[in-house]
Amino acid sequence: MTSFNLRQAKLRSGEQLREEVEIELEPFVLGGQEYAPEPRVVAAQLSITKAVTGTVYELSFSAAVSGPCFRCLRETIVEESVHAREYQAANPGGDPELMSEYVHDDQLDLSSWARDAFALQLPAKILHAPDCAGLCPVCGKDLNEEPHTHDELAADPRWAALDELRGQL
Ligand SMILES: [Zn+2]
Ligand SMILES: [Zn+2]
Repeated sequence: MTSFNLRQAKLRSGEQLREEVEIELEPFVLGGQEYAPEPRVVAAQLSITKAVTGTVYELSFSAAVSGPCFRCLRETIVEESVHAREYQAANPGGDPELMSEYVHDDQLDLSSWARDAFALQLPAKILHAPDCAGLCPVCGKDLNEEPHTHDELAADPRWAALDELRGQL
């Protein structure tokens, strides 16, 4: 887990700190499948801007995840650029809108922030191609490599006999 000690920033109102930080990314679970971030440790740009009323935190990085295509299960890599922004008021007065959930006791939780911002950016379903045909629900073969339907099989006399039997049930 990577966090940034905000005490070392020592900013006064109107000042900005820009820093290159290395953040360890945790694996994601999407649609019941696990996706590994690549690289595991990403170089990110962190900027902290202090105003009288509060502090703005900004984080930018590019990273990829690899894991199975949601439909056909082939190994897929999805790359995204992430730009995230958080605000922490100097005196939030308990208002969650004015507090960043990633700031605790002078520590900025970069790992959680980066993971959440990255997850928001990722598609809900990872597909190796937008038009992935998926796996055949009947025989399980990859329909991208072997497009087929089972209508012709149903026309096979052996299957026809079976259909007739089914009709009698
Ligand atoms: Zn696919
Ligand atoms: Zn099939």
